[in-house]
Formats: sequence, structure tokens, C-alpha cells
Amino acid sequence: MAHDPAGTDLYPPARLGEVRAAVVAAGLDALLLTPGPDLRYVTGYDAHESERLTCLVVPADTDPVLVVPRLEVRGAHASPAGGLGIELTGWDETDDPYALVAARLGAATARVGLSDRMWAMMVLRFRAAMPGTQQVLASAALRELRARKSPAEVLALRAAGEAIDRVHARVPGWLRPGRTERQVAADIAEAIVAEGHATADFTIVASGPNGAIPHHGAGDRVLQAGDAVVVDIGGTMPSGYCSDCTRTYAVGDPPGEFAAYYRVLQTAQEAAFKAVRPGVRAEAIDAAAREPITAAGYGEFFVHRTGHGIGLETHEDPYIVSGNTEKLKPGNAFSIEPGIYPGHSGARIEDIVVCTDDGCQRLNNGTRDLVVVPA
Ligand code: ZN
Ligand code: ZN
Ligand code: ZN
Repeated sequence: MAHDPAGTDLYPPARLGEVRAAVVAAGLDALLLTPGPDLRYVTGYDAHESERLTCLVVPADTDPVLVVPRLEVRGAHASPAGGLGIELTGWDETDDPYALVAARLGAATARVGLSDRMWAMMVLRFRAAMPGTQQVLASAALRELRARKSPAEVLALRAAGEAIDRVHARVPGWLRPGRTERQVAADIAEAIVAEGHATADFTIVASGPNGAIPHHGAGDRVLQAGDAVVVDIGGTMPSGYCSDCTRTYAVGDPPGEFAAYYRVLQTAQEAAFKAVRPGVRAEAIDAAAREPITAAGYGEFFVHRTGHGIGLETHEDPYIVSGNTEKLKPGNAFSIEPGIYPGHSGARIEDIVVCTDDGCQRLNNGTRDLVVVPA
């Protein structure tokens, strides 16, 4: 039987038991997981999204079943899910797979958790097939498990971090006056895959005034001497785990004010990193990044939260934001990415970090000093 090259460390068979315990603890009768990060987390099965229903049913009190279109049965069997001994049920083109799942669960099903990214068409079909059943988000059961990365998951995130660090190490060679942001982004996308990712997910190349737009993307602006350039890039590894790293570069010597606020930003990123340890509230990390930026008079230009969790999704729990009072736990993996965006230019520094038993480790290790490329 074929297995995911990432192996059973990353998607261990024992996880199904943990998930079932979480289903019980959340007061659910079952989880219904369609293709996406929740299904992959539980089984390792990287099923493609389709209008035909693929659904892992994880009841609280009986064995799970994976319901798949007949034409996907062989693929599902060959996936890591096939190695978990999960029962596979194929449905034919004229069957109603929603009725099949409903019959399997029975009429006494009070509450089910649907994968957070299930398509609305499927949510509504399930609602029609099980009119007496309350639908809640699967994260009610899976959130805590997914947010605390296992050692194998941390290794997978570390490999993703090393791959994106190798891409950033090559970025200075592509930043030259006369080239457009889009040309640089194309070079970066190619390198993201060449350095080991399965897909390039985003390539922000934001030069000059565009640097003050946090989610700019990449456009037709031509790089000029004196530009600061925010480069925020990431992809998904064959393991399923994601990278996300920002560095800010200068093409020739940047304006004096830029160098001044870049130093403030570096201090803020370091302060947030130093604040991470188990038991500290997520919002305290945001405050640690914000304090030096506010003290230096740039507070109004730091317009977004300090970070987001990362794993099988680029953005997931826990969010590092004011108001999030949850306490960090060992295994939480998230970004620390303060930014300062005065308008004429902008800067951001982003690393992925992991909360350890007694502190914090960075998974991105490229220099955070301003890299000035020759104009
Ligand atoms: Zn972002
Ligand atoms: Zn980013
Ligand atoms: Zn990010």
C-alpha cells in the first residue's frame, strides 16, 4: 500500500483516537470532514476539492467511515487514510451521498461538527438530509489539537522555514532598478518550488509607496534606486505544511527616515520574540511588538495584528492580536510580523516561531538586518 512520503510520524494512526476523544469532549455526536486541512490533519489524505462529496465521518461512539465517490475509491485507498484501516464506502453517480451519511449516523444525531472550510453547498445538503441535527464548526473539537504541533509537525514547519529562507537568500539577486515587481515575483514563485515546496502560494513584492500596502501583491511598478521593497512570500511543502516569511530590502541607499523606522521595527520584532513562552497570553505578544513602535511615534502606522498561527493552513489559530487572552502552550506555531507603513514606504519583518517548553524558537533564520542591494 502506498503511503505519504511524509510518513506516519506526521499523520500518526493514533491521532484518530485523539480526535474521537475531542469529539466527545466537545459534546458532538460526530465530525463530518470534507477535503481540506481538517481532513488532512486527521488522516493525511490530501483529497482534492470537488462538487462530488468526499467526507470522513468520525462518530463519537463507533468506527469512522470515509465516504468517497466511486471513482476516488482507489486514490483514497492508496492515500495515508488507507493505511489507517478506515472503512471506505464508495457511492455511485446516481446515489445520494448525503442521505448515505445521514443513514449511517442515525436519526438521534443531535450535533455534528462540520470542517471549517466545508463548501456552503455541502453544508446546506447536510442540513436538508439531517433537519433535526445542529451544525457547528469542527474546530470546536479540532482547534486545540491542531494548534499544538507535534514534534513531527514542528520538523515539517522547520523544513518549510528553511526552504523559504533559501528563497529569501536569493532575492537580492533579483532586485534591480528597471525590473517590475511582477518580474521579481515570477522569479520568486519559481524558486519557491525549486527550493522544495509543492506550490508557491503568495509572492508579495511591494516596492516604494506600495510597501505601505500590507497585502499589495505584485504589480507593474518598476523598481527604482532608493526604494524599500517588502517581500512577503510562502508556499506549501509536499508534507502539507506551510511557509510564510517577510524581509524588507533596499535598492540602493534608502531615505534616512526609512533607516530610522526600520531599526524601530527590528527592535519590536525582537521584543515580541523574547516575550514568547508558555502561559503568556497571545495578546501580550502583540503588545510587546506594539510598545516600541508606539513609543517611537509610529504606532498609527502599525495597522494589523502581530501574527497568526500556521500549520496545514497559512493562517490558523492562534491569532496574535489584542483581545486574544488565550495562553500560549508548547507546540503553538505562529508568525511574528510587525510592520510600519508611513505611506511613502513601508517595512515588515516576519518570522515563524514555535513556543517551546520554556521559551521560543525561530523557524526562519535569515538576517533581519536591512539588506541593501546595489542600485
Ligand atoms: Zn498577511
Ligand atoms: Zn507573510
Ligand atoms: Zn504571515
